[in-house]
Amino acid sequence: MMDTTSLRCLNYIDGQWVERSTSDESRNPADWREIIATFPSSDADDVDKAVAAARRAYQTWRVFPAPVRAELVHRVGELLLQRKPELANLMSREMGKPLTEALGDVQEGVDCAFYYAGEGRRLFGQTTPSELNNKFAMTVRVPIGVCALITPWNFPIAIPCWKALPALVCGNTIILKPARDTSACATVLTEIFQEAGLPPGVVNLIHGSGEVVGRALLEHPDIDLVSFTGSSTTGAEVGATCGRTHKRVCLELGGKNAQIVMEDADLELALEGALWGAFGTTGQRCTATSRLLLHREIKAEFTTKLLEQTSKLRLGAGADAETQVGPLVNSSQLERVKNYLEVAGNEGAKVLIGGEVATGEQFQHGYFFLPTILDGVTPKMRIAREEIFGPVLALIEINSFEEAIAVLNDTPYGLSSSIYTRDVNRAFRAMRDLEAGITYINGPTIGAEVHLPFGGVKQTGNGHREAGSAALDVFTDWKTIYVDFSGRLQRAQIDNRQ
Ligand code: NAD
Repeated sequence: MMDTTSLRCLNYIDGQWVERSTSDESRNPADWREIIATFPSSDADDVDKAVAAARRAYQTWRVFPAPVRAELVHRVGELLLQRKPELANLMSREMGKPLTEALGDVQEGVDCAFYYAGEGRRLFGQTTPSELNNKFAMTVRVPIGVCALITPWNFPIAIPCWKALPALVCGNTIILKPARDTSACATVLTEIFQEAGLPPGVVNLIHGSGEVVGRALLEHPDIDLVSFTGSSTTGAEVGATCGRTHKRVCLELGGKNAQIVMEDADLELALEGALWGAFGTTGQRCTATSRLLLHREIKAEFTTKLLEQTSKLRLGAGADAETQVGPLVNSSQLERVKNYLEVAGNEGAKVLIGGEVATGEQFQHGYFFLPTILDGVTPKMRIAREEIFGPVLALIEINSFEEAIAVLNDTPYGLSSSIYTRDVNRAFRAMRDLEAGITYINGPTIGAEVHLPFGGVKQTGNGHREAGSAALDVFTDWKTIYVDFSGRLQRAQIDNRQ
């Protein structure tokens, strides 16, 4: 099936869609013969122009009253809501996630817009007593400047919104560099920013590869902050370059999340959670459940039920309403998952179900991999420690609560974690002892809400949090202000006290 109506995506710089030869394309991962969009392979010159525009716009945007900036962000939310069905459909075709999940992805952008629109009337600072008479002390949030937002393909609307909307409300100007696989989604989002009335130069979009456009952004002397979501390998390079070039940097990286099921758990509930956590978005979520830690007393029974349910999951194109598990996003993701199955075999794990590329006419032009469950996995195996980012769930047997906590913590990552138990004491100990940015009690590892902080510990990030009011700490600096209304030189305590 060839679609001749593919979108021609352009860069958006200084309020203009910029003509440029389009030499790259995104394709439907369920049927790679369908070109979804063409877009430019931009270079450092394009980045220069976008940065110059963003820098000019910053001078006026930073002094727009925050509630007025927020009104425009609110308008972005309204437009996203209006175009939700169209955008979700495009997203399903462009990166493969089932339509219901794609609708949720856009909704997250809407929620984010309405949440940060409210922040425009808060952005609270502090007032505090001065140590001297007739002197006033306060803190205010000030924007950082020009921000480069580098995003992955797995949440093509939600993640750019998580970054762009707080950045804008706080008074920054932005350059969005989306993943190549989701250029069309990023283009429609940028159209929405334009239609919402964001002034020229405040939002800019540059398509292209990470190696060229991404690197040019990292190296650019006139960019003040980089907010990056992607793999830990790329994130390490982003962090190092930003360190060398003295930029602020917020890193949201990989995960190797686990769900614990204790012997006292509600097993039906835990089963539903495991299926959703492991195979939602085809396992291509940074919070996906990729390890299931089963207490030995319930392991056999739980595994039987899990296999029964996994065998019923409907694999197919995201745009098909029946589909529960879509394709992987591209050929390199498919290769990556295939390679990890080879690693699993070599390490002595056993494939209980799946383990291979889906065959059949409807799958022949797509990147479909069967939902897979591996047994006999031990904590030191690579498949128990490295992020696979596909529909692969590793079962690990545990003998006690203490062992479960230790095994869950035994990875280089620390994003999401989950425990199913009816024991309130265990639940509270897990909340305290699990090394992760997010812990779910009796819920799967996925399901973040936009008004709470999102991010992880260890190699999942560099200590920042996105979403919620925590994002304001990424996109603003604190300025401390002293007002002396005594009319004379007053020395602070440090200079006054003997
Ligand atoms: P990726 O690291 O390959 O790419 C992410 C972005 O970085 C893309 O826009 C890419 O073009 C760009 N990029 C690539 N190389 C670059 C370079 N050298 N310099 C600058 N930019 C560069 O990741 P991906 O495959 O798009 O996404 C999957 C990864 O993202 C997974 O590891 C997943 O866990 C992670 N992720 C993390 C979160 C989180 O919040 N923690 C959320 C979603 C995805």
